[in-house]
Parts: sequence; C-alpha cells; structure tokens
Amino acid sequence: MIKFLDLQKTNAPYQEAYQKQLQKILDKGWFVLGREVEQFEKGFASYCGTSFCIGVGNGLDALVLILKGYKQLGKLQQGDEIIVPANTYIATILAVLETGLVPVLVEPNLETYNLNPEWIEEKITSKTKAIMPVHLYGQLADMESINNLAAAYNLLVIEDAAQAHGAILKTKKAGNLSHAAAFSFYPGKNLGALGDAGAVTTNDEALATVIYALRNYGSEKKYHNQYIGVNSRLDELQAAFLNVKLPHLDAENEYRRQIASRYLSEIKNEKITLPYWDATKNHVFHLFVIRTKNRVDLQTYLLEKGIETLIHYPIPPHKQDALLPWKSLSFPITERIHEEVLSLPMSPVMTTDEVSYIVKMLNNY
Ligand SMILES: *Cc1c(COP(=O)(O)O)cnc(C)c1O
Repeated sequence: MIKFLDLQKTNAPYQEAYQKQLQKILDKGWFVLGREVEQFEKGFASYCGTSFCIGVGNGLDALVLILKGYKQLGKLQQGDEIIVPANTYIATILAVLETGLVPVLVEPNLETYNLNPEWIEEKITSKTKAIMPVHLYGQLADMESINNLAAAYNLLVIEDAAQAHGAILKTKKAGNLSHAAAFSFYPGKNLGALGDAGAVTTNDEALATVIYALRNYGSEKKYHNQYIGVNSRLDELQAAFLNVKLPHLDAENEYRRQIASRYLSEIKNEKITLPYWDATKNHVFHLFVIRTKNRVDLQTYLLEKGIETLIHYPIPPHKQDALLPWKSLSFPITERIHEEVLSLPMSPVMTTDEVSYIVKMLNNY
C-alpha cells in the first residue's frame, strides 16, 4: 500500500537528532519559552526574510493572533470586513469569525485554485479592511495583484501561509509577501512538528510586540498584563524538533517539485485534469491535487491498486453545518472544485518506483 503521507517515514531521518534534542531539554529542565523557541523564531524569520517571527501554538492561533493584534493596535475593529477565499481550509474563515470580524467570500480561479484578484474588487466596501489570501496546496496566490489592489484601497494583506513554507515569488518568500503571515507546523505540513505548532511572521514591529505579549497572557513582563491575552505559546520541545528540520526544508520542497514534475509530464489521461504550475513560481507542492468528474470511481480504483488518496476538501466552508446561515450561498467554482478534487500521494520520502507505479495506474484508468 502506498500511503497518502507516511509521517513515520518523513520523520525517520531525523530520529536521532530529535532524541538528542529531547535529552538536551530534559537535562536543562526548561520547557516553555526558552532558547529553542528563540532559536526557531530567529531562524524562521531569517528563512522567510522577515524582521520578526513569533512562535505560537498552532496555525489557527497564528491567524487569530494577527487579527487580535491589529484590533489591539486600532487597525481593525469589530464588524470590519475581511476578504477571504471561498475555497480554503475552514481555519482561515474561523479565525475571522473568532475575532468578531466579517468574512467576505470570494471565488477562486479554477486553474490555480487561489483567490481571483479580478473578483476581489467588486466585494470591497467601505467596511473592508483586509484581504487574507491563502497559498492553497503550496502555490502562491497572485500576491502582486492583491498587494496592488490593497494599496489602492488602503487595506491590510494577511497571508495564510500554512501550506506554503518556502514558496518564493521572485526573491521573496511566503510569509514576507504581505503585512503579516500565519504558518502552521501541523505534522503533515511541509515543515511539520511532532504535534501542534505555528508562527506569525511580519516586518511590523508594533504588531510583533503586541503578538509576543498576546500569545503569553497579554504579558510582556511576568505577572504584568497589558492586554487580554491567551495561552498560545510555541512549545519548547516542538521548537527543538523544528530547529532540526528547518535546515532541510528547501531540499524537501525541491524533492516534492521533482515528484510533481514527473506527475505533470507522465500522467496522460483525458479523464484527469492536472494542476496548473507556472514554473517561474516555485510551488512547494504541499499537495498534488488533480480533478476528475468521477472522483468516487477513481478513488476506489486507486485504492484497489494499493494507492491511498485524500480529498482536500470534500465540503466547502459555506456548506458546513457550522456555518448554517451560509448554506444557501452559491459559489459555483468553489463547489465544483470541492466535488472534483483528489490529492495524490506526495511527500519528501516517496520513492521513484512508487511515483512510476502511481503514474502507470493512472494512465491505465
Ligand atoms: C493547516 C491549515 C491551517 C491551520 O493550522 P493548524 O496548525 O492546524 O491550526 C490554516 N490554514 C490552512 C490553509 C491550513 O492548511
């Protein structure tokens, strides 16, 4: 059986290094907000090219803390409208709702699956204060157009970069293409911890200062609380594991691109639509997502051949029970994507034989 993503295998090369890190922390006896978190924050800021990185508990909290930080600074207010893609993982939208802001959904481009800048402008009102693009599946959203539009309307831009660690536009990386960005280090992401973890990156010192405090009970100095904060700190142990993995991220992304290149050039089947990849943009292939009209049939066929696939995502946010008032809304492109997408196995530890076998089975279908 070829697993969709084998987390035992993706972590196997780092096992000895992880064990050393664990021992180091046990020896020190320091478990929260210590040297490892500091080292990771410095390292990841430097990797992304931003002035600041703030380690937090997970990706959803990273998004929430950016929005709360801007509220604290008076740049966002209760009821402000935030433009988000209709086609995203629900976390993007939950973060907006959780902070008392209003998500305004915009359809994606059917080729890139990302926000279509042409359709953003018609949704901008006097209440719109920010655009939150998602680099879905590891492909950067059209940040140049989005940033131009945001500048023209004086809007904040906040990247949901949870699927795009290391993606580059010209010389700038995801996380450094907007005012602030949220990352997740959930185990299955391109840079994954051994549990939950996340981070905010930004060049805005005022925002960074507020978020450093907000993630730790709103306190800059122990037992002195400036803000109504939360407990969402990046764990020292998770930071120690991430410090092991960060230096290998670019090589792992490159390997993902090699697999993607093979899928793109070797899969030849009229029933399958392959993803769009502009080779000048270095997609990091968090997921390799194809489309097909008969998804159940194809997924069942592949499973019979020993190939596990997943669906990202089966139900669009506006059709979820949690967002009941939105059920009557219509986003035809988003709905079509959710009906047709299927994610093929993709990871930095797949073998070339596995890729060949998957290609062969898809071509025989
Ligand atoms: C994974 C993910 C998140 C949330 O990250 P968690 O660490 O699971 O909270 C947010 N947005 C997108 C697009 C994601 O893929």
